[in-house]
Amino acid sequence: MHAYDSLYIGGEWTRAGGDGVIDVVSPADEETIGAAPLASTADVDRAVTAARRALRTPEWAGLTPEQRAGVLERFADELEKNQADRAALTSKQNGMPIAVAIAAEGTAPPGLLRYYAALARATPLEERRPRLDGAGETVVRREPVGVVAAIVPWNFPQTLTAFKLAPALAAGCTVVLKPAPETTLDALELAAAAERAGLPAGVLNVVTGGADVGEYLVAHPGVNKVAFTGSTAAGRKIGEVCGRLVRPVTLELGGKSAAIVLDDADLTATVQGLATCSLLNTGQTCYLSTRILAPRSRYDEVVAAVAGLAGALTVGDPLDPDTHVGPLVSSRQRDRVESYIAAGKAEGGAVVTGGGRPDRDKGWFVQPTVFANVDNDATIAREEIFGPVLAVISYDDLDHAVALANASDYGLGGTIWTSDAEKGLDLARRVETGSIGVNFFDLDAGAPFGGVKSSGIGRELGPEGLSAYFQLKSIYLRGTSA
Ligand code: NAD
Repeated sequence: MHAYDSLYIGGEWTRAGGDGVIDVVSPADEETIGAAPLASTADVDRAVTAARRALRTPEWAGLTPEQRAGVLERFADELEKNQADRAALTSKQNGMPIAVAIAAEGTAPPGLLRYYAALARATPLEERRPRLDGAGETVVRREPVGVVAAIVPWNFPQTLTAFKLAPALAAGCTVVLKPAPETTLDALELAAAAERAGLPAGVLNVVTGGADVGEYLVAHPGVNKVAFTGSTAAGRKIGEVCGRLVRPVTLELGGKSAAIVLDDADLTATVQGLATCSLLNTGQTCYLSTRILAPRSRYDEVVAAVAGLAGALTVGDPLDPDTHVGPLVSSRQRDRVESYIAAGKAEGGAVVTGGGRPDRDKGWFVQPTVFANVDNDATIAREEIFGPVLAVISYDDLDHAVALANASDYGLGGTIWTSDAEKGLDLARRVETGSIGVNFFDLDAGAPFGGVKSSGIGRELGPEGLSAYFQLKSIYLRGTSA
């Protein structure tokens, strides 16, 4: 049992203002595995105040980029000491298969801290430019944007926190983190690691709670920027608030990406790739290629191969290293996925594998499910399901495939499967999306990631991800008064 009785605010573990509690429940066996206090609005006020104060302290604001990079690296050292435990904690909370958790949640947070520490060292904070009119010079400064409200979902909780925290700290910002209630525990573990690493007080603060705590934080007058990952519905609300407040915001939202299988694709390799590119983390990953576009000439073959893949995956205990597919995060999420399976059937889709629950006594499992005969306009092809449900859709020629891929409200990821990588690259250029893979999909921490259309605004990762935490100031300089 991971039981917390306090929140991490201003460098101290302090009692929450109210007496609400968040119970964290294992999606695999429905047992309570931990609890944490629920933050009150007064706790959010304290966290934002602490973050504002830390923005000006010599212990943080007074650090050189080199010294700040050292802080990030000590934080990474701490996170590397308990990588396996942190990965297991994510699996216990959200049902992520442990092999995925080790690869992502275990390694990504310290890796990102090290990457952004190196970028902090390499990024000049001031640049002198001769004025265009020749009358003096201008000093262009990169200054930290200020207090960052970082709001993250439960699906890759530690990784998505690090997407925000690492560049924010590298830029000299301070952070108030609001994790999803389902994965509250790892955020408090992160705070404990920050404390052990000697992060100055107030640089990282954690407030717990659901959407209401998030809403209060987003609109807080002491916050300078919001970095959000989550659903498009919540992102729209947050974007509206930030628009009204003229507050910078990064929105990493949902997706309904396409896998375009070309007629020259090696189906065995394609299907092996789709196991991760379409079903990673039990389908609870934002960028997955869940619409599989197959050439009409090979449609039946592709349907059979994808169904063979999904039907052969091992569904089971997320802590078992052989498990490919774990439970969904909550009974609510399982209800949602099952309602999409029902909609798929009602709209004429044919279930070729799965469609029900595996034979288990406990836990919020659904079988990996593949639909054939799906129209691109069907509900299950338009809306993000966030579960292990794939739709195979046929296309006539490459122009048609691109048109289908682009006929989506979303534009986050995508994949192209072909034996001719250059042809794949040509096609990738035509897909309206923030990222796309040819014969695989794997985020590159050195390159920007984010969405177009309803998948979001702004980019994380890469040097672009650091720029989002700086604001620019121009100082017009003349040696003598004119
Ligand atoms: P969610 O939007 O319900 O919640 C995400 C976080 O926002 C949680 O911490 C929640 O408490 C908080 N929240 C919810 N409403 C809020 C509001 N109005 N104001 C402030 N905070 C609010 O999403 P979820 O169900 O936790 O996560 C699944 C969603 O996240 C999926 O749609 C998925 O595609 C998306 N996602 C996107 C990316 C990406 O990088 N684009 C990555 C992972 C997940």
